[in-house]
Amino acid sequence: MPEVETRAPKVRLHVAGPLAAGAEVALGPAPGHYLRNVMRLGPGDAVAVFNGRDGEWLAEIATWERRAGGGRLAVRARLRAQTDEPGPALLFAPIRRGRLETLVEKATELGAAALVPVVTRRTVVGGRTIDRERLGRIAVEAAEQSGRLTVPPIAEPRRLADLLADRSAAGRRLYVCDETGGGRPIAAALAELGPGDLLVGPEGGFAPDELAELRGMAYVTPVDLGPRTLRAETAALAALSCWQAVLNPGPR
Ligand code: SAH
Repeated sequence: MPEVETRAPKVRLHVAGPLAAGAEVALGPAPGHYLRNVMRLGPGDAVAVFNGRDGEWLAEIATWERRAGGGRLAVRARLRAQTDEPGPALLFAPIRRGRLETLVEKATELGAAALVPVVTRRTVVGGRTIDRERLGRIAVEAAEQSGRLTVPPIAEPRRLADLLADRSAAGRRLYVCDETGGGRPIAAALAELGPGDLLVGPEGGFAPDELAELRGMAYVTPVDLGPRTLRAETAALAALSCWQAVLNPGPR
């Protein structure tokens, strides 16, 4: 498939349907409004589209549907081949709503491959039910803005014990952000042990027995983010930034 040597359009849209040369993409009223009324685009203008599976494609606005407010895009040529998201899954104990939305947006920009809410002993009550629909929309917007080819899935909240049981089967390393000072400096741990997922505790921290259980697991590495006590969302973003800096210095 020849790559098209064209500059990617400034507007990027995540779409659901398949992408291939000559395909048509139907736009609902919301994206239609965004392109037409916010970005002031019209028929013939170019947008970049991606669906998380087929790479990023150059598309042209083919028609507007005045009444419905939507429109149709004509897919022209592939701009970038699909690649897996090289980042870690971020396992996090849900926090208060506003901060959680910021966490989802920033973690998406920072390359989290998946977002997995974990219910721990001290998780705030509201954290047991999260608005996955709304968080999913925030993740889509952050993926569009940041140039990602994937949107991190927002998993259903899982109890820590259940999640750890599943993970022990998979055996993928888990870096646990340990605020008690019991962890290794994160950059050294990442450089030595390589890729793995990240786990951050709730505002109230992990319960002592949770930390003890985690520390006792073969594929778990407690890590330290420095001498200060960070808010959960700060810790998550700091850990993600370290992960990308150490393990994914990949080309722009
Ligand atoms: N309430 C606890 C702190 C919880 S901070 C207290 O006051 O001690 C929320 C989460 O952020 C923690 O569970 C941990 O996962 C992470 N975190 C915060 N500061 C950290 C640090 N310096 N090193 C590693 N993880 C940290």
